[in-house]
Amino acid sequence: MKRTIYAVILAAGSGVRARQGMNKMLKEVKGETPLDMTLSRFRRVDRIDRVIVTCKEDEKEEITSIAKMYYPDPMIVIGGPTRQESVYNALKVIDDMEAVVLIHDGARSFVSENLINDCIDTTLEYGNGVAGHISTDTVKRVNESGHFIETLNRDEICLTETPQSFIVKDILKAHEQARKDGYTGTDDASLLERLGIPVRMVVSQENNKKLTFKKDFDELECSDIDLLNRIRVGQGYDLHLLKEGRRLVIGGIEIPFEKGLLGHSDADVLLHAITDAILGAAGLGDIGGHFPDTDEKYRDADSALLLSQVKDEVYKKGYRIINLDMTLFLEKPKMRDYRERIVDRIADILEIDKKTINLKAKTMEGTGAIGKGEAIGASATCLMRMI
Ligand code: MG
Repeated sequence: MKRTIYAVILAAGSGVRARQGMNKMLKEVKGETPLDMTLSRFRRVDRIDRVIVTCKEDEKEEITSIAKMYYPDPMIVIGGPTRQESVYNALKVIDDMEAVVLIHDGARSFVSENLINDCIDTTLEYGNGVAGHISTDTVKRVNESGHFIETLNRDEICLTETPQSFIVKDILKAHEQARKDGYTGTDDASLLERLGIPVRMVVSQENNKKLTFKKDFDELECSDIDLLNRIRVGQGYDLHLLKEGRRLVIGGIEIPFEKGLLGHSDADVLLHAITDAILGAAGLGDIGGHFPDTDEKYRDADSALLLSQVKDEVYKKGYRIINLDMTLFLEKPKMRDYRERIVDRIADILEIDKKTINLKAKTMEGTGAIGKGEAIGASATCLMRMI
C-alpha cells in the first residue's frame, strides 16, 4: 500500500528560553530564520506529499509567506496554548487515517535528510519511528535538594528528538485519549507508550540540535559551515561569429549594428554563457544538452525563453541565485549605452534583484577573431545557494 506522507512542522511556540524577544522560529540569523532552515531540509525529501505548519494567529501571514517559499501549497494551522494541542490541531486537518505523519519541532533546524527518511522507512515497516540517541553522558536521578539519588544505566537511556513519525490513526487516537485523561506529555511518543503501544527508536547520528537557548542562536550567528555546504558556483563561456544580415541580440536586447551573431538560435552569446553558468552550478550539464542545435524547434529560438526555462528548472530543484558576474569580449559596438538595459532584462528573466548582477565588457586589443571584429565572446559566473 502506498501511503501518503505528511510532515507537521511546529512553529506556534514562543521560545521564551531563547530570549530573542520574539518567536525564535522567526528570528533571522544571516538572512534565514530557523523555520527557513527546517523547511529547506524537509523540502529535500521528495517523498513528503503535504506539509502542515502550525503557528500563532498573529504570525499566520509571516509564517505562510515563509512556508510558500518551500512548498507551493502548505497547510497552515493555528496552534494551541501547548505543544500537544498544536500537534492535535494539525492532526485534525489530515483526512487520510492511513497516511504517515512526521511531527517535527520547527526549532530542530539541522535535521538531516537521512534522519527524515529513516523515520519514514521505520514507520512503513514497524508502524512508527521516533528519532533519538543513546546518552553518552552519565545519567543520574536527582532530588529536590540537588542530591543524586541514583545512577541510571545509560545504555538504556534514549534522549528523544523529532521527527516522530506515526500512522495518523494511531497518533490521533493517542492524542484523543490523552485529552480525555487530561494527560500532557513532552513528546508524542509518550502518548502512545501510555496506551501500551510499542514505539520504535530511530537512531539519530547527525547534528539534530534544537535551537533552545540564547547561546544556540549566538553560536549559529558564528557558524558558516551550514550555509557553505549549500553554496554552488558555476561558470559558462560562449562565442559566436558576427555576420552581416543577422540581428545582434546580446543579453536579451536587440542592439542596432551592421552585423549580428550567427547561430542556430538567436545566438545571444551572453544569455548562453549565463545559461551554462546556472546549469553548471546546479550540476545539470550544459545548454547544448538541454536545447540541441540539431533540433528544428530551437531554430531562431529566443534565448531569453530558454534561459527562463532553465531558471524554472533549477528554482524548482530548490536553488536560488546569489549573484551573477559576466564579461563580454568584443571590439564593437560599445556596450556603455546598453549595459543598464541588459542588466534590467537579465534581472527580469531570472527574477532577481539587479543589484546582484554585474556586467563588464573588454576588448581583445585587436587580436584574434574577437579583436578583428569577427566574433563576440561572453563569460559568466553564477553563485547559487540551495534553499
Ligand atoms: Mg551559443
